[in-house]
Amino acid sequence: MRSPVIVAASWIGTYILIALLPLLLLLVYPAPEDKGFWIDFSVALGFIGLAMMALQFALTARINRIEASYGVDIILQFHRYISLVAFALILIHPLILFVAQPETLQLLNFFTAPWRARMAVLATLALIALVVTTIWRQQLKIPYEPWRTSHGIFAVLAVSLGLGHAIGVGNYLGLFWKSVLWTGIALIALWLLVYVRLVKPWFMLKKPYLVEEVRPERGNVWTLALRPIGHKGFCFEPGQFAWITLDISPFRMREHPFSMSSNGDNLERIEFSIKALGDFTNTIKDVAPGTKAFLDGPYGVFTTERYEDSAGFVLIAGGIGITPMMSILLTASKRKDERPYLLIYASKKWEDITFREELNELQQKLDLKIIHVLREPPEDWSGETGYVDKELLQRYIPKRRGTRQYLICAAPKMMEQVELALHQLDVPPTNIHMEHFNLV
Ligand SMILES: Cc1cc2nc3c(=O)[nH]c(=O)nc-3n(C[C@H](O)[C@H](O)[C@H](O)COP(=O)(O)OP(=O)(O)OC[C@H]3O[C@@H](n4cnc5c(N)ncnc54)[C@H](O)[C@@H]3O)c2cc1C
Repeated sequence: MRSPVIVAASWIGTYILIALLPLLLLLVYPAPEDKGFWIDFSVALGFIGLAMMALQFALTARINRIEASYGVDIILQFHRYISLVAFALILIHPLILFVAQPETLQLLNFFTAPWRARMAVLATLALIALVVTTIWRQQLKIPYEPWRTSHGIFAVLAVSLGLGHAIGVGNYLGLFWKSVLWTGIALIALWLLVYVRLVKPWFMLKKPYLVEEVRPERGNVWTLALRPIGHKGFCFEPGQFAWITLDISPFRMREHPFSMSSNGDNLERIEFSIKALGDFTNTIKDVAPGTKAFLDGPYGVFTTERYEDSAGFVLIAGGIGITPMMSILLTASKRKDERPYLLIYASKKWEDITFREELNELQQKLDLKIIHVLREPPEDWSGETGYVDKELLQRYIPKRRGTRQYLICAAPKMMEQVELALHQLDVPPTNIHMEHFNLV
């Protein structure tokens, strides 16, 4: 088996190679007539930007092998930052052209410009709309679902119009290999789209689940128990998550990511514990047993499974961030894991602590120490209060920091502060792992 570092590095190498392929071909087969350095340079930037935009479809296609190398957090982070780089390259590309050949400015006149230039303008507008609605989605108050639909539409428009523009310009694509290259890129992008929207949902449709139980938990959380029908289901690494679609067909876009909260080795029954926070999560309590569900997963690298050699684990959870930890602890107890587990669990009130009783029971079966941290403790509370900070962590984490793996899942602010505190306490950065519940 190849080392994960080599696999991860080879994906990066593949990405760079594909992004630069148009440029390499441009170097091997320069334009038939010499257009000068700046024009060639501008075209090269446009080509790289366009190839990077097309590659975005691969980054978001939830390709298991890529996700297994990095985790969804890192891939989406990369997707976000690299799209800004591609955006900058695509904007600089015409700017250089306008400076080097001011007469090209008239191509901006939509009424008189040839189609290839109109397509470039439309592609750029689609790209601007895509970037603006993504960066300022919350400020613009765009709900997640319409945003996701429009994000896909803008992306398809930007890439297809960009390709149309590149093919229309022709000069640089006259040669056989250049046409092959762009047709190949267009076909791969199209295939990824078909794969994500049609092929994958079709496979999911063939493996449905039934809602077996909807159980209330403390803290306005509902546990949804699913049973596979007509197939084996899947086992997962404790801490991983899946995308759930309920009732409606998986071809619809209403899918949401949730960490499994049950034992990863139990294929017969997969459980998700969901906090009622928004329009979808508020409906979980009303889901009737017998409702059909579809799962896309498992995904994620936030799991203890990857650290079999670790002497033990420190789990730090805030609120609903307990769900992956619950799965980790349940699976460890079923497997009779003898290693020490420390759970630092921040909640608002004693009454709100999701899985309070279940965690208590797990203490009888596992080497598990639980530190509850309450923001609004009852009067007779003698335990930890306030926030999980450096001082609190110092009181409980082992002196030999590097002997444990530290897994954090909480609200963004808490994760930031805990990560910083762990750095200050000399926990090796490679031993810190985080799961973000807010992807966008
Ligand atoms: C890896 C991962 C694991 C998660 N595990 C759990 C869990 O175990 N339990 C739990 O209660 N919550 C979990 N969440 C959070 C959960 O996915 C969101 O709270 C839920 O999708 C919100 O949907 P809503 O329509 O109720 O809320 P809304 O109010 O519509 O949205 C609130 C926010 O949730 C995010 N969101 C909304 N819809 C989606 C969607 N379809 N896909 C992705 N993000 C969306 C957006 O950032 C949005 O701004 C997890 C999230 C991720 C990324």
